[in-house]
Amino acid sequence: MRFNEGAGLDVSQVEDLRGSGIGGRVAAGGGGLGVVGLVIYFLLAQFGGVDSTSVSGFGQLGEVGAGQQVDNSSLEQNCRTGADANTNHDCATVATVNSIQDYWSDQFARSGRTYAEAPTNFFTSGVRTACGTAGSDVGPFYCPTDSEIYIDLTFFEELRQRFGARGGPFAEAYVLAHEYGHHVQNLLGTSAQVRGGSGPESDGVRLELQADCYAGVWANHATTTPTENGQPLITEITPEDIANALDTAARIGDDFIQRELGGGTVDESSFTHGTSAQREKWFTTGYTTGDPARCDTFGARDLG
Ligand SMILES: [Zn+2]
Repeated sequence: MRFNEGAGLDVSQVEDLRGSGIGGRVAAGGGGLGVVGLVIYFLLAQFGGVDSTSVSGFGQLGEVGAGQQVDNSSLEQNCRTGADANTNHDCATVATVNSIQDYWSDQFARSGRTYAEAPTNFFTSGVRTACGTAGSDVGPFYCPTDSEIYIDLTFFEELRQRFGARGGPFAEAYVLAHEYGHHVQNLLGTSAQVRGGSGPESDGVRLELQADCYAGVWANHATTTPTENGQPLITEITPEDIANALDTAARIGDDFIQRELGGGTVDESSFTHGTSAQREKWFTTGYTTGDPARCDTFGARDLG
């Protein structure tokens, strides 16, 4: 993935909380999951966990003290253009968020709707949200209550080291685009209509696979979606990029996590995100068609 050297970045779509550090206390009090496999499972279960109100890792509001401040000064200084995104990880994340939201903004307008931007919050250790407080071990997530995305960027290192994912910028873009898929579901009212739950045919799994499909739809349009000044922000997505996204999808399937990282036994009744094959399939459906209407995982008889 390459960013357009001359295209401007919009840092305002990101909120940098990394300097404010409420983390220590959240991390110390969070979760209580002592078993490595469980922690890993939990982490990935949350990679996009929509219904955070039912997630035990989230504390109650007010559990942590004051002082969570947005400080975008470093990003504003360093992340001005696509050239910065090509050399700086933070800036690449900003640029990816910009591209994803540019696409959905256009797509909503085409269908007579208005897209409401959602910021992505960078945090370390812990964060306070309208869905409660969360430690980094929950992984990236979308909080539907405040319509914001939260990510500890060290998660991507975790994906490589513990999950053995190949990683790379586009694998990270897939993760972000999946979270924005949940925002789109929230805006369209999809998430409010479904019951969630777990199991291979559950609404919860269908919601997650649809978010994967929406991520693929964005990937299809990423090099042709113009920014405000008319140029696409992303100039190139290679077959290797797509392979890296699929590799990541394969390592966060419920069956893979349970088998490889969670103790070996695969229990379909506890599936929340779909199998590796299903996650790859729905990302691919979005990517090859570029059509959000093809992401009807709720109407699909066969999820793959
Ligand atoms: Zn998700």
